[in-house]
Amino acid sequence: MKKGIHPELKKAKIVCACGAVYETLSTKEYMTVEICSKCHPFFTGQRKFVDTEGRVERFAKKYNWEIK
Ligand SMILES: [Zn+2]
Repeated sequence: MKKGIHPELKKAKIVCACGAVYETLSTKEYMTVEICSKCHPFFTGQRKFVDTEGRVERFAKKYNWEIK
């Protein structure tokens, strides 16, 4: 990594709407996200507030997933 080309990376905290906190490296020190791997149905297989249009159901049907 050459100096002066890339912005400096700091230890960053990412806070999700579900309350999960992640540490990563970023140019920003603090970030908030609405969804993360912990609360996303794609990762957890659980339905939550994010599924407002039945998209997850259609997706799950397509791939024969079981939605709890
Ligand atoms: Zn989350």
